[in-house]
Amino acid sequence: MLNKNCIKTILNVKYTCIDKVTMLADTSIMIEVHATKGEQCRCGICGKKSKFYDNGNEGARTWRACDWAGHKVILVGPSCRVNCKEHGVVTCRFPWARHGSRFTRKFEEQTAWMAVNCSRVAVAAFMRISWNTVGPIIERVEKDLDINPNARFDNLVRIGVDETSYRKGHKYITTVVNHDTGNVIWVAKGHGKTIFEQFFKLLTPEQRNNIQLVSGDGAKWIDECIKEYCPNANRCVDPFHVIEWAMDALDSVRVDAWREAKAATKEQPKAKRGRPKKDTPSKDTTATELKNSKMALGKAPSNLTPNQQAKVEWIAKTDPRLYRAYKLKESLRLVFHNDTIEDAKEALDAWFKWARHCRIPAFVELQKKINRHKQSILNTIDYGLTNARIEAINNKIKLSIRMAYGFRNLDNMMAMIMLRCSDIKVQLPWEKDEWSSFFRLG
Ligand SMILES: [Zn+2]
Repeated sequence: MLNKNCIKTILNVKYTCIDKVTMLADTSIMIEVHATKGEQCRCGICGKKSKFYDNGNEGARTWRACDWAGHKVILVGPSCRVNCKEHGVVTCRFPWARHGSRFTRKFEEQTAWMAVNCSRVAVAAFMRISWNTVGPIIERVEKDLDINPNARFDNLVRIGVDETSYRKGHKYITTVVNHDTGNVIWVAKGHGKTIFEQFFKLLTPEQRNNIQLVSGDGAKWIDECIKEYCPNANRCVDPFHVIEWAMDALDSVRVDAWREAKAATKEQPKAKRGRPKKDTPSKDTTATELKNSKMALGKAPSNLTPNQQAKVEWIAKTDPRLYRAYKLKESLRLVFHNDTIEDAKEALDAWFKWARHCRIPAFVELQKKINRHKQSILNTIDYGLTNARIEAINNKIKLSIRMAYGFRNLDNMMAMIMLRCSDIKVQLPWEKDEWSSFFRLG
């Protein structure tokens, strides 16, 4: 005779009666359950007691529960539909599972915890579910854990906004980050002024007034939103965006140099067949060397490997123009390393002067662009907004997007970002009593 209370404890369920336990041929364990009387006929959405409607089209439903030492555990219970005054005809609530789910609450929490902390392959293999199903699970758990999203908007002082592409092509999401905590506080589909406005509309006037700094890339819509919603705030530019602009300019110079070198190689006479004679000059590899120099040119000198260092030295000798472009990029990066605003101003002015007269069109253009954002750049240095922190959270967001690859629904992906990058903490089934969210409903 099985101890039903013991099984209930193992399943970690409440308001549930255990009827029968059967071992199936494939060694999975089937447990027949039903809700206690007080929990029967409640609306699946709001949890209010409602009128019985019908038995649905299934009669009985199954849910996966956490495995018992490697054996799959399946709950089977009667399913019915109720007629809620507010929500109409809906499936009733099951105390052991979230609405619309075929997994128990504890199973979903374990999956969400694993999705936050482990790789995709690990989650799918360990939980024995396909990665597609993880998406909806994450969304349900996130919704459950995010009890008071508006609390995140209290005491905001320094915020950053960024748009990140999430699929090939031009599909973007906008994320707002609290620079002081390093957490994501808001995610939305799309980008541009209308989307960022939605964020400000969620804030109370006091919360808006509290904001002192808004950072982002050089987009105009950020300026417009600041002007409209928090005129007290200063505009900053994320340093990594500025470096990115410089990198783009440098890369265009490199590509030009590579093209020229390639054209020059073509003009050379073709090598004859057979072993070359001793005195024939070796093949000109300038074009290939330039083609493969992107990595070396992109890094800071202190991070270069010996090979990359040699490459930069080689560029200094063979292509002074490209080397000048590289130096310009580096000195722009160093502007952000100044501690005082006076030093930064001086360094930036010196850079402007240099860039203006460098005779490289890409950098002359860059100089004009940076001049337009001069005040924002100086604000960034004044507020001590460091690149490391901003990039860290940015990379975390990008990694979450990559992990969510394969989710069919965009909301699933946004829930993934919130679970991994915000202050929401997913806990393992034994760490806390997650029934608080259950009692919130009805
Ligand atoms: Zn309802």
